[in-house]
Amino acid sequence: MKHVFGPVSSKRLGQSLGVDVLPSKSCTWNCIYCQLGKTKAYVAERRKFFPREGILKEIKQAIGGPAAIDWITFVGSGETTLYEGLGWLIRETKKITDIPVAVITNGSLLYLEEVRNELLEADAVLPSLNAGSAELFEQIDRPAQGFTYERHVEGLVAFRKVYCGKLWVEIMLIAGVNDSVEALQDIAAALEKVQPDTVHLVLPTRPTTESDVRLPSEEVITRACLILSHVAKVIHPAKGSMNLRNTADIIETVAAITRRHPLQERELRHALDGLIPNEPDQVERVIEQLLGSGKFKTVALEDGEIYWVLTGDG
Ligand code: SF4
Repeated sequence: MKHVFGPVSSKRLGQSLGVDVLPSKSCTWNCIYCQLGKTKAYVAERRKFFPREGILKEIKQAIGGPAAIDWITFVGSGETTLYEGLGWLIRETKKITDIPVAVITNGSLLYLEEVRNELLEADAVLPSLNAGSAELFEQIDRPAQGFTYERHVEGLVAFRKVYCGKLWVEIMLIAGVNDSVEALQDIAAALEKVQPDTVHLVLPTRPTTESDVRLPSEEVITRACLILSHVAKVIHPAKGSMNLRNTADIIETVAAITRRHPLQERELRHALDGLIPNEPDQVERVIEQLLGSGKFKTVALEDGEIYWVLTGDG
C-alpha cells in the first residue's frame, strides 16, 4: 500500500492505522525537531496531491484485514491539512466504519475556515503548539513566510470554538529551548486561550533535523507537567510498542514505518520478540534478513541508542 501503514501501537491512539496523504516532505514549517529531515521547499498552498479515491480504497482494504485497529489516523509526511481531499476522506471513512478517526496536524492552516470545517467530523484532532511567544515559535518551528505565531494561535482558538471532538494539543519539549519556567508559563497562557481537552507532552526521542535538539531531564519534564496542568490535563506518553503480528511482509512493514520516522532498534527487537517468543536466534536471523535487504541502515546517537532509517533504496 502506498498511503496506509501499520497499525502501529501508541499509548494515545492504541493500535493506530496511519494514512499518509502527502508526498514527502510537504510542510508549512521546518521544525528543528523534525524527523523527516529539512523542509527543502515550503508548501503553503493546499493541493490535491493524490487522487482521494485511491487513498480511500487502501483504507477500506486495511480495515477489512485481520489487524485490530483502534484509530484511523491521518498523518502526513509534512502538514496533513495541506491535502485538499482531507475533509472528503474523513467523511467517507466515517461512512464505512465505526473506528474513530484522528488527524495529526501542526495546526498552521486552521486559520482557514475551509480547513476548520473539514476537520469537524474527526473524533480527535492533534495540533502542535510548541511555543508561547513569536520568538520561540520562529526558533522552533521555522514557518514559511506569512505563517505568524499570532495567526497560528488564532487558528487554534477559532477551531476550538466550532469543534466538539477531542482537541489534544501536542507540545514538543526541547531541552534548553522551550523548557524553562518562563517558556512553559507562556505556553500555558496560550493554552488558556485555546482550551484543549488534554495536552500531550512529546519528546525528541528520535533523530532530528538539527543535531543539538536534546531531551529534557526527568525533573524538567515533571516541572513542565506541573505548570501546564493548571490549564488542562497533561499526558506524557510513554513510548508505544510496535506490533508486528498479522504482518504479511515484514520488510515492507518495517520500511513503511521507517519511511515516516526513524525506528528505534530496541523497539523493533521488542516487537520481534513478541512475534517470535523465546527464539532469540530467529530474531537475530530476521534482523539480518532486514539489514540484508539493503533497504535499511543504522544510525547511533550520542546516548548509544540505535535507530533504523531507510537507505536510498528503501
Ligand atoms: S515536525 Fe511536522 S510540522 Fe514540523 S517540519 Fe516536520 S512535518 Fe512539518
